[in-house]
Parts: sequence; structure tokens; C-alpha cells
Amino acid sequence: MATEQYDYVIVGSGTAGSVLANRLSADPDVSVLVLEAGGSRIPPEVDDPSSWYKLLGGPVDWGYTSVPQPGLGGRRTYEPRGKAPGGSSNLYIMMHIRGHASDFDNWAYQGAAGWAYEDVLPYFARLEGQEDVTAATTGTDGPQRITNAGLHGPNPVSRAFIDAAVELGHREIADFNTDGPRRGLFGTGWHHIDVADGRRQGVLAAYLEPALTRPNLTLRTGAQSTRLLFDGDTCTGVEYAQLRAPATLSDSDVPGRTVRDAHSGASTPGTHTVRARREVIVAAGAIESPKLLLLSGIGHPDALREHGIEVTAAVPGVGENFHNHVLAGLMAEVTQELPAPAQNLSESALFLSSRPGLPAPDLQIAFVHVPFDVIVGQDHPNTVSILPGVVRPVSRGWIRLASADPLAHPLIHPNYLGDRWDLERMVQGVKLAREIFATSAFSPWYKQELQPGPGTVSDEELRTWVRQKSESYHHQAGSCRMGIDDLSVVDPELRVHGVRNLRVVDASVMPAVPSGNCHTAIAMIAERAADFIGGPNRGA
Ligand SMILES: Cc1cc2nc3c(=O)[nH]c(=O)nc-3n(C[C@H](O)[C@H](O)[C@H](O)COP(=O)(O)OP(=O)(O)OC[C@H]3O[C@@H](n4cnc5c(N)ncnc54)[C@H](O)[C@@H]3O)c2cc1C
Repeated sequence: MATEQYDYVIVGSGTAGSVLANRLSADPDVSVLVLEAGGSRIPPEVDDPSSWYKLLGGPVDWGYTSVPQPGLGGRRTYEPRGKAPGGSSNLYIMMHIRGHASDFDNWAYQGAAGWAYEDVLPYFARLEGQEDVTAATTGTDGPQRITNAGLHGPNPVSRAFIDAAVELGHREIADFNTDGPRRGLFGTGWHHIDVADGRRQGVLAAYLEPALTRPNLTLRTGAQSTRLLFDGDTCTGVEYAQLRAPATLSDSDVPGRTVRDAHSGASTPGTHTVRARREVIVAAGAIESPKLLLLSGIGHPDALREHGIEVTAAVPGVGENFHNHVLAGLMAEVTQELPAPAQNLSESALFLSSRPGLPAPDLQIAFVHVPFDVIVGQDHPNTVSILPGVVRPVSRGWIRLASADPLAHPLIHPNYLGDRWDLERMVQGVKLAREIFATSAFSPWYKQELQPGPGTVSDEELRTWVRQKSESYHHQAGSCRMGIDDLSVVDPELRVHGVRNLRVVDASVMPAVPSGNCHTAIAMIAERAADFIGGPNRGA
């Protein structure tokens, strides 16, 4: 049988993959295939913004576990990642944060030429369809529908959090994303959220589903790419495993809806190959993208030989520079019955720097109007949480192959709190959260602290608690870093070094994760990549 052929083959239909699928297939003269490891069923909780936590550990979650984390006393962490059309944007908490201007200037400074703030700004605006215009740079016509949580009947306790932060001297801002390159992001206020008409507006709704009506776009679910195929140094296609239930989801496994046209071109269970006439674009996320490169012989030669994999290209940085934001949850019981959980459960926040003189916020203090911990929550239903997080971590870890079995999870080492500065900033964040609970603005609500609790006082006790309780902030990034130095993996147009017709487009290419939730920056990267791919360097 002749090998199937498409102009572009995209591996993964997550945040980046769905944006690319939409933008590339907008040209009716090209054919696009998207291979997605997850199944076609979308549980009802995906569409309900308040139900995101019910999806964790469920059938649309890869449910990874890290290797033991030295900075967390040897604990392993749970690392959720979306496994379905829409990827991790089916699980995310819908906070719409672009990042700080210096995040992108720093990328360019590190060799990612053309990715400075001024360069990426138009792409943020292009993706946004925001309801309230807060600055000239707000995007209003893009596919990503965005609302202001403060305009849709927010929980009054979320307002008390903002007032408390103001009482502590922080300014209230109208939009974390549009207050100028230097001051932007610093302050407290309402989140803008990827929610509209009461529904999650992840990339599934914003980009992928609208494009699935096009005859030149094929989405194949339950199709896990196992290897990239090469002719010399030219990537020519993809080998994939068409999985059977229960390795993937059969329609009967998951209540919910089936992604429209997801089965178009479905192939029979087993191993298949597909050819890409122009390019293969790997968009499998910060954990699976480096894994797929390694399985395909792109990586450090020693790491490849260890698993008996022939070297296609010696690119030693594959899997290095992996990192993530880190957070811990304080919980306080409140004096009054809380209104029912609403919107994305996290309507307000505070961004600040841990010390004077830092150009961007490195602490994000998120407020959640439900108990962060279901165990405590069951005994104390009227509980709220403040989640301090380090959003400019200096700790770096890695992704490595556990085995040459393409269906095995890789080894995941985010190296949380591996550097003492990250630990000290977490402690500082916990103290700040306590200051917020202690303000007069919060006093009408505050009853008692449940976690860490009154027994945790000294700096050493706080360090111990932070090591025991810190968790993934779910912003894994950096494992196929963009740049031009020896350890970079892709060039500034996201082409993999040492080979042709292969790009990586997802969170893995970020030299450093931005100073806030990173879905929007990943969508921006994919918007930009679509221009590279469809532009003058097509197929280069
Ligand atoms: C619980 C949670 C809450 C979050 N909250 C927020 C938030 O509020 N705001 C924010 O900005 N960000 C948030 N994030 C982060 C954000 O969702 C992710 O950073 C982003 O979606 C990652 O995009 P990506 O394109 O890099 O990868 P993904 O979206 O993970 O896409 C990768 C896709 O590739 C598929 N895939 C993987 N391997 C293969 C293979 N071999 N073959 C075929 N398919 C494959 C996967 O199944 C997946 O669909 C959150 C994440 C989580 C998990």
C-alpha cells in the first residue's frame, strides 16, 4: 500500500499544535495531518470552567510522575498533561497571562533573535479576542475569546484578596497584560480568563474545532508518534502507533462529546508511517517533544547509545534546561459561607518581585476561592487558598529516556527548589500570603489558618513545610531550547539543528518560562511559527 502523504504532519494537538493546525490549514492548497496520542472523547468537565480539577488524574491526563526531587526531600511530584485534542489546554485553569516584557527580551538576549517583546507583541494581539480593551495593544479580533473575571459576578472573597494586596502597598491594575513594557504585570487585580459564555475557551474551542470543517485538515486521534523518519539529514515523515483501547480511549470509556471529524482518516491499530512533503512539526509538549527527538536519534550521542539508538544528529541539549514554576497552597477557613465556586475558581492574583531592583515579578500569588487541598476541604468547606509561586525559577532539570520503548514515559526531573534562591522565595511567598490573610481588608472573612497552621512559624519550619508541600505549577518548559549556542536545540525559526524539514513548536522551545502562566505565550509561539512555516522559509 502506498504511504500516506500530507504537506505538513503535526505531532500533537495541544496548545501549539491546535494553533498550527488552524493557521496552516487556512491555506486550502496545503494538506495537514495532526497526529494526537489521546482519544477523541472530551469529558463534560472540559467545557465547564469550574470543574478543571475533576479532570486531574482522569482519562484525558497523561498523569506523569517526576523522579525523586532532591529539593523536595526526595518526594516525587505529580505532573498532569492533557491527552486529547486540545492537549493541556483542556486541563489548564484558563488564566490569560502574556508574561513580562523582559521575559521575551531575555529570550532574544540569549540568542533567540527576533523574539524580543516588540517582536512578539503583534502575535499576542493576533490571538486575542478580549472583551474589554485595556490598552492599544489589547487584541480583540483573535480566535482566543477572553473575559475579565471582575466583570462577571466574581466571588466577593476574590475582591477582598485584591483589597488586601492594595492595603499592603501593591497597586491595582486593570489588566496584567497591558500596562507597558516595564510596569506591566506588577500589581494586583482581576484575571483575564479564557472563558466565554460560561465555557472554557482552550485551543480546542478557539482553534481546532473551527478548523476541522476544512477538507484539507485531518485529525487522527489515538495515534502516538513513535519515531521521526529520515532520509539522510532530511526529515521525511513520522512513524506512529495507532493505539487500541485501553491504551487510548475508546468512545465508551469517557462520557462527554466526540471531537467533530476526529476520526477522519482513522487507521487500523498497529504501526504506520506517514510522509510529510514539506515539514514535520513536533508539538508534543515539553515532556514528550524531547522524548520523540531522542527516540529518533536527535540528542546527546552518549544518551542515545545508552538505549541502543542510532545517532541521526548530535544535538546535546535535547532534554536539558527543563524547568517549571513551583507553588504551595496555604489554606484559611473563612467566617462566612462562601458563594458557590464560579468561573475558573481563581479570579484574582498579585504579581511582585521578591526584592527591589528586579525588572520583572518573580513571585505570583494566586487566590483560589475553594480549598486547594480536597482533604482539608472536606472537613472545612468554607475554605480559601492562597498559592504563592516562584515564576522566575533558576533551578533547571532534564527530560531523559527511561527506555527505548516509545510508549514508556520518560524520566522527568524538574529539579524543584534545587537552587536555594527558589526555596527562599517560596518561604517569602508564604509569609506574604499570611500578611494578606492578616490585613483588615481580609478580616471580615478570615477565621483561622488551616495550612501550614499556627505550629509552623520559624524560617526553618517554613522551609521544611515548603519542601513538603511544593508542587508543580504545570508550566513545564525549556527542554528543546531555542537559540544559537551549542546546547540549543532549535534555531530562532524553530528548526531543529543539524537536520532539515523538522521543527519543534511548543513550550519546550522557550529558553525560560515567562513570569506567569504560559499557555498564552505558547499560543503566541505557534502563531509566529505559522508565519515562519507558511512564509519565505517554507520547507527550508
Ligand atoms: C492543571 C493545569 C493548569 C494549568 N493552568 C494554566 C493557566 O491557568 N494558564 C496558563 O497560561 N497555563 C496553564 N497551564 C499550562 C498550559 O496549559 C500548558 O503550558 C500548555 O497547554 C502546553 O502547551 P503545549 O502545546 O506545549 O503542550 P500540550 O498542550 O501539552 O500539547 C501536547 C499534545 O501532544 C500530544 N502528544 C504528546 N506526545 C505525543 C506523541 N508522541 N504523538 C502524538 N501526540 C502526542 C499530547 O497528548 C497533547 O495533546 C496549566 C496546565 C495544567 C496541566
